[in-house]
Amino acid sequence: MDTTSTRSESRAKLPPRITESLINRLTATVTAGQAGEPREPYEMIEVYTGDIVGELPQSSPDDVRKAVATARAAQREWANWPLEKRLAVFERAHELILTEIETLATLIQIGCGKSRRMAIEEVCDTPMVIAHYLKTARKVLKLKRRTGPMPIITSSTEEHRPKGVVAVIAPWNFPFAISMSDSTPALIAGNGVVMKPDNKTALCTLYGIELLHKAGMPRGLVQVVCGGGPDVGPTLIDSVDFVMFTGSTATGRVIGEQAGRNLIGCSLELGGKNPMIVLDDTNLDEAIPSAIFAVYGNSGQACMHIERIYVHERIHDEFLRRFVAAAKELGDKAGATYDFGPEFGSLVSVDHMNRVAAHVDEARAKGATVHTGGRARPDIGPAFYEPTVLTGVTPDMEHATKETFGPVVAIYSFRDEAEAVRLANATTYGLNASVWGGDLDRARRVASRLEAGSVNINDGFVTTYAAKGTPSGGVKQSGVGTRHGDAGLLKYTDTINIGVQKKQILAARSGMPYEKQLKSTLVTLRLMKKLRMG
Ligand code: NAD
Repeated sequence: MDTTSTRSESRAKLPPRITESLINRLTATVTAGQAGEPREPYEMIEVYTGDIVGELPQSSPDDVRKAVATARAAQREWANWPLEKRLAVFERAHELILTEIETLATLIQIGCGKSRRMAIEEVCDTPMVIAHYLKTARKVLKLKRRTGPMPIITSSTEEHRPKGVVAVIAPWNFPFAISMSDSTPALIAGNGVVMKPDNKTALCTLYGIELLHKAGMPRGLVQVVCGGGPDVGPTLIDSVDFVMFTGSTATGRVIGEQAGRNLIGCSLELGGKNPMIVLDDTNLDEAIPSAIFAVYGNSGQACMHIERIYVHERIHDEFLRRFVAAAKELGDKAGATYDFGPEFGSLVSVDHMNRVAAHVDEARAKGATVHTGGRARPDIGPAFYEPTVLTGVTPDMEHATKETFGPVVAIYSFRDEAEAVRLANATTYGLNASVWGGDLDRARRVASRLEAGSVNINDGFVTTYAAKGTPSGGVKQSGVGTRHGDAGLLKYTDTINIGVQKKQILAARSGMPYEKQLKSTLVTLRLMKKLRMG
């Protein structure tokens, strides 16, 4: 197969490093076609052109069970490796990912259509997560000696054991970062991993796993299964010990239900309808470019991106004028190439673009104003859609409450802080929020009233997302659990409490009436509280 011959000459040219043999080598590592009824392969598309770049094997339920069994067998040995030896694999993987950043970025772009800058920044996420856990894992995972119920005579030790095999189910919007960065702490903690990437964007994940193997990861420990979510998901969740899921709230609910039935843990990172509040003392020279990135970075296909902006009425008109001008300028820099020229990329697929366009068309039909954008750009690529700014969006419109997940924002005005907070919180989601203001104390005050798992002051979303030491996740319908920080590592472990009693003093003493024992128990409890023991 010549992967370049059918591509339109006027559009993207795949860099020469992306060869047919590379694609075949990567797709051959999927656990598929090995057990059970063989499935039709999935045709992977280059988003910029609509051309087919290769076939992705699809896993049957028996393949999924086989993948989990293989990961489980390898995990037993991996969990016995000293932590230092496991960390050494990630020391090498960090460097290999940075060395291979161009190939990884290209593989991301093929499946997602995002701009080169966004693809590069996506790759950087995983080395950041690796570096964080290289720094903290020893301390977080070490045995912790706690006081027992009676000092000296008793002790208790907190031990963190790997759960076993973790399913990492990832969406298409940050396919490399999510699959690799969420697997990193699971593997460091001593687990095996079975990844389920989205069919559209599996290539970058497969290349990432090849790099883990080059870094010394034992074969078998990380498996990849591919297929439609409802085909592969149920067997996968029935076979593993923990599920790390990132995707829509609707799917998260299905996965949470199944995990609950199986009594296994799950971490659900879901959708958002993220607000930005612009207070009247905001420096617009800084806020406008940052807001443009927060709304249109990744062509609006980021879970933490901003879809609603509330601007104080005193500066609303100026903000709107300058924001619309900047959005138009960004639209002029759209392009379908594998270099840093274009600053604005494609949507992931024509289907997704049609869903985004439907939200805009419905808002327009019901009376919203489209200040810029609001149309597809098939002249650039089949799934390009312009950066779009709406005003006059009312609660009966889809864009007001549903996640559009595209380059579309609604701008509203507000009179005072209380109204801004009320409007920002008027959503079932609670993933991310942003507050802008010159007076940081006031901005912090507003931030403390926002119902979101991450709140960024004078930034859209990058500050909290890049703070790998702080756990973050969604509240309300945006998720259960967190990633990053100590909690992002400990969730992949079972906590075992090992207690030692050097001499039997806690048991009832034979021969002594219990009334007497009760008296001494009450004296002891009062004394322990006074001395802050226990
Ligand atoms: P999606 O829920 O449709 O799919 C996500 C993944 O789940 C895919 O791999 C899909 O194949 C799989 N899946 C679907 N049904 C399944 C099932 N029944 N069992 C197991 N797996 C199943 O989401 P999407 O459209 O790929 O991604 C976009 C969504 O993800 C948006 O809502 C976005 O906000 C959210 N997202 C959230 C975060 C976060 O960290 N909170 C990050 C990125 C994306």
